[in-house]
Amino acid sequence: MAFNKRVKIKTILEQNPIGQEITLMGWVRTKRSNKNVSFIALNDGSVITNYQVVADPNLIAEDILKKCTTGACLKITGTVVESQGAGQSSELNAKTIEVLGEADPEKYPLQPKKHSLEFLREIAHLRMRTNTFSAVFRVRHALAFAVHKYFNDKGFFYIHTPIITASDAEGAGETFKVTTLDISKPPRTPEGEVDFRQDFFEREANLTVSGQLEGELAAMALSEIYTFGPTFRAENSNTTRHLAEFWMIEPEMAFYDAEDNADLAEDFLKYLISYALEHCQEDLKFLQSRLEEEEKSKPADQRSEMGLLDKLRFVVDNEFVRITYTEAIDILRNSNPNKKKKFQYLIESWGADLQSEHERYLVEKHFKKPVILTDYPKEIKSFYMRQNEDGKTVAAMDILFPGIGEIIGGSQREERLDLLLKRMEELHIPIEEMWWFLDTRRFGSTPHAGFGLGFERMVQFVTGMGNIRDVIAFPRTPGNAEF
Ligand code: ATP
Ligand code: MN
Repeated sequence: MAFNKRVKIKTILEQNPIGQEITLMGWVRTKRSNKNVSFIALNDGSVITNYQVVADPNLIAEDILKKCTTGACLKITGTVVESQGAGQSSELNAKTIEVLGEADPEKYPLQPKKHSLEFLREIAHLRMRTNTFSAVFRVRHALAFAVHKYFNDKGFFYIHTPIITASDAEGAGETFKVTTLDISKPPRTPEGEVDFRQDFFEREANLTVSGQLEGELAAMALSEIYTFGPTFRAENSNTTRHLAEFWMIEPEMAFYDAEDNADLAEDFLKYLISYALEHCQEDLKFLQSRLEEEEKSKPADQRSEMGLLDKLRFVVDNEFVRITYTEAIDILRNSNPNKKKKFQYLIESWGADLQSEHERYLVEKHFKKPVILTDYPKEIKSFYMRQNEDGKTVAAMDILFPGIGEIIGGSQREERLDLLLKRMEELHIPIEEMWWFLDTRRFGSTPHAGFGLGFERMVQFVTGMGNIRDVIAFPRTPGNAEF
């Protein structure tokens, strides 16, 4: 039995091989029967469309047909014929059906009815067998492929930065510790501290929160690089935008200033969306109707003004707004929700950190477009960002998206050794441990810049899924590491 002779549903729909005998394999979505015939809707994941199989009880034994229940896996050989019914141009007249894997209809958790996203999260091992999740993961794949294609076409090199690191210089959040010590009785120093010199790496280690610092080292040799890998943050934020394990894309470019950086980021985001629009039509149409359905239960003023596809086209076709942090603070300070004390965190003075309620006000209410916010106060940004002439701000850049908030965080980096050292001292960053990072500024330093795109937030934006847990196959969040 050669499995590799099977034909994917996607191929049948593209080639419409009327009259040919083929073998299909896939999972039963639904079966309808009457005395004369059974109709099986089969799905193999290659496309959102189910393929109709027609089984004549004179040809297929009754005990086999009985086992063709929702969730069962079948191998079907038959002839492709013109379809009688509406909806698809061809169907398969089954000659033989082999049940590869039964699914007891009494026990199979996925029924051909609507399940809530919350319920499906509890059966994440099966949820990819639904239209919604198969569509999301096909789109996710297309976007991941587009990331590599975009950078490859531009001559960027893909660098694999380490997942285990010894520095938490970014200070991006709580890190997960990596250790082989017996945590119930770790070795101690004479002072009573845990003695990490006896640990695997002979020092404290943790899972990476960002590949940036190592990415910078590579950019100082290969000019233009990117990373695309998993990052880990043990932050206890139970939001619809945070995961403990997420994927980040971090390009880093020598000879780029802040404006070049913003130009690249905008072009990159538009490319990814265009790629999905071009290659994921069917899935996006399905996700658009899913979203419309979902929004019917919301009060009218909370529904989106545009459908998913229009929203995506709108972002591709319009220039992002570019404003400084200082301009944003003026807008926010004079905004209605601030005056009427509707914001949870009121904006009183320059220097305030922007919360997601502020970011979303700017994007969704004020500009109604993606916004690139630049030149933040140095106090609320990382040590490595380039200090501006004003002595108060740094060349940071955050990109804010409707419905998402921050999707990209980036900056031009401080390439001047003396200024970088001074800032690190002010922030008590262990300079000796960072000798390798500082060497880039000692030897052949140059202006450079980069940013980090949270991949799941991008997948959320493109698929219209409201919760980040629904765009990664097996989400890790506080209290959740099942599957
Ligand atoms: P936020 O303020 O939303 O927590 P951040 O400022 O911590 O984001 P950065 O450290 O700049 O984010 O990381 C770069 C990008 O990674 C963010 O713009 C976002 O898209 C994504 N990101 C950050 N934290 C998470 C997370 N916990 N889960 C998923 N994506 C994340
Ligand atoms: Mn964060």
